[in-house]
Amino acid sequence: MKDVAIIGAGAAGMTAAIYARQASLSVTLIEGYVCGGQMIGAPFVENYPGYGSVSGSELSVKMLEDVERSGIKITYDTVMKISKEENGFLLSGKTEDYRARSAIIANGASRRKLGCLGEGEFFGKGVSYCAVCDGGLYKNKRAAVVGGGNSALEDALWLSGICDEVYLIHRRGEFRADEKLSLLVSEKKNIKKFMFRTVSEIIGDDRVTGARLEDVESGKLETVECDGIFIAIGLKPENKRFEDIVELDHYGYIRAGEDCLTSHSGIFAAGDTRSKSFRQIVTAAADGAAAARGAVEYIRSNC
Ligand code: NAP
Repeated sequence: MKDVAIIGAGAAGMTAAIYARQASLSVTLIEGYVCGGQMIGAPFVENYPGYGSVSGSELSVKMLEDVERSGIKITYDTVMKISKEENGFLLSGKTEDYRARSAIIANGASRRKLGCLGEGEFFGKGVSYCAVCDGGLYKNKRAAVVGGGNSALEDALWLSGICDEVYLIHRRGEFRADEKLSLLVSEKKNIKKFMFRTVSEIIGDDRVTGARLEDVESGKLETVECDGIFIAIGLKPENKRFEDIVELDHYGYIRAGEDCLTSHSGIFAAGDTRSKSFRQIVTAAADGAAAARGAVEYIRSNC
């Protein structure tokens, strides 16, 4: 049995693993897909201290190198359930079961879906949720980005360096994103803004050919022709599978404060998965450190 099992190898999970190892805990770090989490989709990160401007994928590789240097091997599996056992916890994975004295849930959150007509049909055929991963397919073409937060504006800026034209579609008259990003977007001649618009349908034949937009004020419909649509409208937690053991908030995030303590002693929640107001790489990493410290204290007093 390990001292701590960590679910998710994004910024929070990797930081938790490093801190836990530094405190001499034995660690299982379980990742379901690709290490780095949402970070790997960030075209550039300019607010993680010490790196200046770095791509999210480069930053996640650096973090992973630190994890590996601390002697931890990543286990690839998806944890479906956590149950309490006499001396700790049983984590039931899709391929294996894991036992640990404490658990840190750092499974992040996934990209929210628009839910409009055509979104599912054209996924992978022009509809994407990752500009860094798929942007290269639209060289000298036209791409649309939906959303008004940091992710959408970063995606639009990234695509403006690849595509001939980028259409930024947002449902309100102002962006939620940082002012600096809004200014950068305004300076780009090949980014055209469609404010007060929602996407009512994504259209195409065998691939996307455009989108039907609705003016939220007048209800007027228009069609924008484009070759790809990048959806960046925020995050959605994936915590239903943990609701039997830890309390979730109204939105499905795990209830936990700055100390990352959940409603169940011995289980901690770190990063985007927990109820918090500011979801950044740096705040996820900070959570990872706090959760690891919580696990160390829990093991010292209970095991
Ligand atoms: P976000 O900040 O929650 O923004 C989501 C955007 O999508 C909002 O503009 C929202 O519109 C819009 N939206 C939501 N549902 C929609 C719908 N059904 N139809 C149309 N538009 C919809 O999400 P995010 O940009 O993915 O960022 C998530 C978190 O990560 C944020 O805390 C963000 O600051 C952080 N982040 C940080 C960085 C960085 O520091 N470099 C980079 C990326 C993300 P409204 O504005 O009208 O609500």
